[in-house]
Amino acid sequence: MRDLSAGPRVLLKRLRELMAEPLEPQERLDRIVRQIASNMVAEVCSVYVLRSDGVLELYATEGLNPDAVHLAQLKMGQGLVGTIAASAQSLNLSDAQAHPAFRYLPETGEEIYHSFLGVPILRAGRSLGVLVVQNKAQRNYREDELEALETTAMVLAEMIATGELKKITRPGLELDLTRAVTIDGDSYSEGIGLGYVVLHEPRIVVTNLLNEDADAEIKRLGEALGSLRISIDDMLSRREISMEGEHREVLETYRMFAHDQGWVRRMEEAIHNGLTAEAAVEKVQSDTKARMIRLTDPYLRERMHDFDDLANRLLRQLTGFSASSGADGFPADAIIFARAMGAAELLDYPRANIRGLVLEEGAVTSHVVIVARAMGIAVVGQAAGAVALSENGDAVIIDGDDGKVHLRPVADLQKAYEEKVKLRAKRQEQFRALRDVEPVTKDGKRIKLQMNAGLLVDLPQLAESGAEGIGLFRTELQFMIASTMPKGEEQENFYRSVLKQAGTRPVTFRTLDIGGDKVVSYFRGHEEENPALGWRAIRLSLDRPGLLRTQLRALLKAAAGAELKMMLPMVTEVSEIRAVRELMQKEVQHISKFGHQLPKKLQFGAMLEVPALMWQLDELMEEVDFVSVGSNDLFQFSMAVDRGNARVSDRFDILGRPFLKILRDIVQAGDRHQTPVTLCGEMAGKALSAMALLGLGYRSISMSPTAIGPAKAMLLALDVDKLNAGMTAILDGSGSTESVRAFLGRFAEENGIPL
Ligand code: PEP
Ligand code: MG
Repeated sequence: MRDLSAGPRVLLKRLRELMAEPLEPQERLDRIVRQIASNMVAEVCSVYVLRSDGVLELYATEGLNPDAVHLAQLKMGQGLVGTIAASAQSLNLSDAQAHPAFRYLPETGEEIYHSFLGVPILRAGRSLGVLVVQNKAQRNYREDELEALETTAMVLAEMIATGELKKITRPGLELDLTRAVTIDGDSYSEGIGLGYVVLHEPRIVVTNLLNEDADAEIKRLGEALGSLRISIDDMLSRREISMEGEHREVLETYRMFAHDQGWVRRMEEAIHNGLTAEAAVEKVQSDTKARMIRLTDPYLRERMHDFDDLANRLLRQLTGFSASSGADGFPADAIIFARAMGAAELLDYPRANIRGLVLEEGAVTSHVVIVARAMGIAVVGQAAGAVALSENGDAVIIDGDDGKVHLRPVADLQKAYEEKVKLRAKRQEQFRALRDVEPVTKDGKRIKLQMNAGLLVDLPQLAESGAEGIGLFRTELQFMIASTMPKGEEQENFYRSVLKQAGTRPVTFRTLDIGGDKVVSYFRGHEEENPALGWRAIRLSLDRPGLLRTQLRALLKAAAGAELKMMLPMVTEVSEIRAVRELMQKEVQHISKFGHQLPKKLQFGAMLEVPALMWQLDELMEEVDFVSVGSNDLFQFSMAVDRGNARVSDRFDILGRPFLKILRDIVQAGDRHQTPVTLCGEMAGKALSAMALLGLGYRSISMSPTAIGPAKAMLLALDVDKLNAGMTAILDGSGSTESVRAFLGRFAEENGIPL
């Protein structure tokens, strides 16, 4: 047999010529298989393409019966070809028929061929088809032949991905790449969005596949790897050597991968086989991904992401890709797909165009989700595989109510959702009709419904939703979207606009709550191992009194002649409130001294988010004008579950007995001292948990604006005293094993309360 080692380059060169010729797709495929067979001295070369119904169909062959083309087919996982596609792994067999998975397809006439080499046709780790060569003689294909065939498969992957094969797909059938997929995730923010996929980290599409000069490409790869290693070393050395923990671990893993000889060798081999440096990186990335995508061990899956990130960095180096080059042609109806995302990154998108957000990770109370909810965007989280399964521009429906993502939906589903959207609009209409109805319960209790906000664009919602005021204005959002620290004057102007737009409705400003997962790029803190428990919110403000005083001054001046309501985040000890009050006094004096007008009334409050305040309740209630419970953080700290970590954040029920008792103690302390208590965490935004809060004694809650309508519909039908009696029994009585959540659901149903 002829030495094949010089083959791959010649083959790829021929393929390049074939790709450039103006041929019909079937003709092109036929010539490609002929070329591969001849170059690899194989009697057979066949291409199977995966259809949307999970069947691999023979699309072209050299050597097998030509009448079998478009007829011979195998299911995913069936026969050798199906096994290769399902496992995304190659098979190299000297006696194919002896393999347990072998399945004889009589129409092909393949029984006379013994040796078999098959490779998956991969794109971003997904199998799109299978490429096979066969010989009569029993032989083992060499490692370099396998490599060559895998490299060739990339060209076919590109051909399938560009949609060229659609033309020769039988009517009524579709290829897998255009298959409709439904991804089951969790509902993070309600709403339905119809639109098109925008990948947050756009996949770098390598179009320049085949090289002219292997040595030059090896050199390019070497240089790119060199700068990649330097940048990682740089990141590592910028952090303290003693620093341990996740960041370091990730970076160490990056470094390990970047120096991994196996990785480098496989990329170099691909270049020797004719690929450009970037195509080689992509090939090895796709192979590795295909292998690792099937892992179930979360640690190893995480490492896969690390590896993927690293390969993407390398691709960016080689292609000179920058994020902004992906920003062109942003669709009018965009649904953003990301593995994870920061709140500020979401705010960078043109808000008017965003219809939804799909996250592979995240949790209901992570800040990006809160921001999305405030923007009224549907969010589905924990959507496994969403990024790999989608391409920029794919049609998609996001169902934030059910936590589902329908990629490339079929026409019927699309229609059904268009109906659902209309129905929702009608329901919104009904809620709007309640807008001016006074929020009084069936048994005559007046409830205060306020909304949460943080940006000027939120303000129109105040009138639209019928909220009585803004119960929580997250001032950090202005800081998070700015590229430099907003100056005092900018802050003042911003607060003034907020107050002006709010008109007669009161606004409760919360002082800066940065740190933790609320990252402000220009404000450099130290790396923290445990940022949620770290230097954040009021702690940071007290340590940087200049920052806090600037904000206090801006607030005082903006509210000149009016009422100023403000509160402090993450208070741990009552003494912190006193310390801020002192700074406030200084600002008041300063402002009066310079002849500025002061607010006519100042209401000074604190958020209750840290459990330690539970043992200072009486002192706290005396110290402040009002208290606002931040149930997101209070739940996180009481139950010791990271609010941003989906693996634990849903572990305990927010409507479980322990947390409800904590919430009850707070509202009762407020009543004892006649200090108003509000709750402004995400639990106020769900009609069921809002109902529970009223049952515990809360008379004021603040939520995202879209939740106001459902909350009002709920309370208008609610007999609070009756619910209170039931909740007291279930929280204090012994013997009942029914969950409070189940009790609440039953109560609502039996009493005709819409949820
Ligand atoms: C909370 O913790 O419940 C809260 C309202 O504050 P944030 O979500 O901004 O931390
Ligand atoms: Mg909080």
